[in-house]
Amino acid sequence: MPKYLVIRRFDVSESEMPEVGSRSRRVIEESYPEIVWEHSHVVVDEDGTVLTYCVYEAPTEEMVREHSRDLGRHTIDAIHEIATGLGAARWSLFFLIAVGRGAVLRPITAQACERLFERLLERTGAPGPVIATTEAPHFRRMALVRARAAGHNGGAPAGHRPGHAAAGIRDGNGIMFVSDTGEVRPSGFFAYSAGNVRTASPVELYRGSGLFRALRRPDLLGGRCGRCQWREVCGGSRSRALAATGDPLAEDPLCLYEPAVGRT
Ligand code: SF4
Repeated sequence: MPKYLVIRRFDVSESEMPEVGSRSRRVIEESYPEIVWEHSHVVVDEDGTVLTYCVYEAPTEEMVREHSRDLGRHTIDAIHEIATGLGAARWSLFFLIAVGRGAVLRPITAQACERLFERLLERTGAPGPVIATTEAPHFRRMALVRARAAGHNGGAPAGHRPGHAAAGIRDGNGIMFVSDTGEVRPSGFFAYSAGNVRTASPVELYRGSGLFRALRRPDLLGGRCGRCQWREVCGGSRSRALAATGDPLAEDPLCLYEPAVGRT
């Protein structure tokens, strides 16, 4: 049976959500017994709006929408058929960098990002696609912390290796982007160019330009990233730091982690 991720926006307060959850289960039992609710995750946005991320098995998307109409007090932002049932090998989640067309979109908060990572890591060992992130290297930090707590000292468990296979790879360090006009950048979301392939070798720009060399030095990072014990394997999104602060070596604002003060 297909599985769906349903993202909803409620017009009730967070304190009313337990009652909404009970009612949702009643509606399923009474009218839609074919729907199997798997789990839900409640997020309260900065303006107090309650969002839910629910996973259901259901015969059709239309049946999920009918259940929503009966439940009321919310609108559906999106329904995604989950890739697992489609046999996907990889699930790549992109974390917004607010540049270009992305500047008009609202990024998730660092708190919501942390909760999302926790949910992703709860899937560790479950059948389904390998989970990968783009522009969220701090997923490695959480994966490694969890893996070590579980006694996997070599890294994250098989099937979820963000802290293992991709350790240290980030904008400018293992990643190089060449634009349609030949500009060589540390990523596709990075405003600065190190040069142009029409006038310089991209290999030499990657290896020798001041921009790329600086991005490969975790000891130059600022803010929390600069004093973080995970800066070698993570190092934060340099594109997001640049977009948010104008400094590509600043801390990544999508990360909640607070390293110990005084560490260098
Ligand atoms: S503080 Fe920076 S280096 Fe440390 S985990 Fe967060 S993003 Fe990564």
